[in-house]
Amino acid sequence: MEQITLQAYAKVNLTLDIQGRRKDGYHLLRSVMQSISLADTITLQKKGRGQGISLHSDHPSVPDDEHNICWRAAQAFEQHTQLSGGVAVSISLAKKIPVAAGLGGGSADAAAVLYGLNKLYGTGLELAKLQQIGLTIGADVPFCLQGGTCLVEGIGEAIRPVGPFPSVTMVLVKPKAGVSTAQIYRGLDPATYGGDSTDRLLEFMTNRTDTPLASILENALESVTSVLVPEVGIWKGRLLEHGALVSLMSGSGPTVFGLFSEELPAQRFLERFQHEVQVFGVTLMDRGVCSR
Ligand code: ATP
Repeated sequence: MEQITLQAYAKVNLTLDIQGRRKDGYHLLRSVMQSISLADTITLQKKGRGQGISLHSDHPSVPDDEHNICWRAAQAFEQHTQLSGGVAVSISLAKKIPVAAGLGGGSADAAAVLYGLNKLYGTGLELAKLQQIGLTIGADVPFCLQGGTCLVEGIGEAIRPVGPFPSVTMVLVKPKAGVSTAQIYRGLDPATYGGDSTDRLLEFMTNRTDTPLASILENALESVTSVLVPEVGIWKGRLLEHGALVSLMSGSGPTVFGLFSEELPAQRFLERFQHEVQVFGVTLMDRGVCSR
């Protein structure tokens, strides 16, 4: 195999509880993460032996060099596999997932690179090994390799599939501002540690209780981001006004999502606001990476 093209799916956090902070500064989380159909396309093409890594991204704020998480993923793969002659690959990245948006776009891309190199070089690494390599690059990479609906704990290393989530229509709204994940975590008040929305969602999914989703889904980072980006609260409100069962921010934001039980109100929302803000109608996926 000389070339592989992959879809790298974004994620949303259906819940996000912060359990505490480790001495090294990493936050411990409990989150139900969900892969969604919004995807970047990544093509990996093998180059001649010894030619190293090269990268082209079609997005102005996504670097073309070793600062790109895809580049770092390829380097990490090379280190762990110790392939003779090293990794020689040209990476081409077509971004659709908004950058710095709480949708894990970089992590999805890194997961796709690890998955793709494992195929391209026939190294046969198991998922758990790829996830171990992925964790050295970013906390969400192991989940993106697994994909679907998962309980994610620790700093992102403990992953358990818990899906599928009930069938819903999802709408994403990405306000113009981008936020830095590190900055949002720095603004977190330890008094908010220990939420239990993840437990409530797991209970809901296991026993199919009739508790409204709006009283279950929470994101501990939302209160921090919404002070910096007031559009978070505004768009959450608009999604509810237009018939969403629940609206919530994903990850460190500022993207918010709404879950609708029917397609029509979701469609109306997309048509009404598509000229004002970035909106996406997406479906839930049972995987994080797929080759096409
Ligand atoms: P998360 O939800 O995991 O916090 P995010 O959506 O907030 O992710 P990303 O879009 O993954 O954030 O990454 C944002 C930063 O990483 C930007 O500063 C961007 O320049 C840099 N970056 C490096 N490589 C990539 C990549 N392949 N895709 C997107 N951003 C990248």
